[in-house]
Amino acid sequence: MTSTRRGLLIILSSPSGAGKSTLARRLRAWDPEIAFSVSATTRSPRPGEEDGREYHFLSEAAFKAQVSQDGMLEHAHVFGNFYGSPKAPVAAAIDQGRDVLFDIDWQGAQQITNSSLGAHTMSIFLLPPSICALRDRLESRGQDDAATIARRMEKSWDEISHWGAYDFVLVNDDLDETEAQLKTIISATRLRRSQQPGLTDHVRGLQTEFEELS
Ligand code: ADP
Ligand code: 5GP
Repeated sequence: MTSTRRGLLIILSSPSGAGKSTLARRLRAWDPEIAFSVSATTRSPRPGEEDGREYHFLSEAAFKAQVSQDGMLEHAHVFGNFYGSPKAPVAAAIDQGRDVLFDIDWQGAQQITNSSLGAHTMSIFLLPPSICALRDRLESRGQDDAATIARRMEKSWDEISHWGAYDFVLVNDDLDETEAQLKTIISATRLRRSQQPGLTDHVRGLQTEFEELS
């Protein structure tokens, strides 16, 4: 097969605590060629988070400067802080034929889907099995104080209400099963005609061969 692959933009959204980061980690262990879009944010780092690894932690002034220089693919105000996906690393990865994984909210998903990159984007929404399970997961993650958890729970319905705008929707009940489903839909979407720019040349070769043999 001669076709080269075009990188796919894989968007994961869900209410906070439904399992995006956990599944993103598993996907990158499955295929280390998947690049992770490290977002910029004005929120403070949580214990264990490293600048440049989970997020680029920026001041509000630095964030706004990057937006005004057209440096963000998308950006939004979430839970009282600014979040955005820096453009340059995404363009570099896509040029190399690598997929890029985004852990972003519905506003960012909408902006990317409606952009010129929309044709090369797949969007996935994760639903929790129940609201009680969502709260238990936020509590057991042990990274946020009670007030932050309450704020995230309050906002969870707002995020869930956008589930209908996504290409794929998975209920993240059993983690292994959700991981398997994610791998299946990503593998299938990589085979979309629009992701295989080398197909035209391949079919041309088939035609030449066909004509020579007939
Ligand atoms: P998000 O990135 O969407 O905020 P996380 O990936 O941090 O969510 O998950 C929140 C917590 O729930 C973590 O402690 C994680 O280990 C746990 N978790 C994720 N998926 C499941 C699942 N299917 N079953 C049980 N616990 C889960
Ligand atoms: P957290 O603070 O828990 O890491 O993330 C809070 C929310 O912000 C999550 O819903 C996450 O998906 C979203 N988010 C993280 N990075 C970005 C980003 O770059 N853009 C947008 N639009 N949302 C983001």
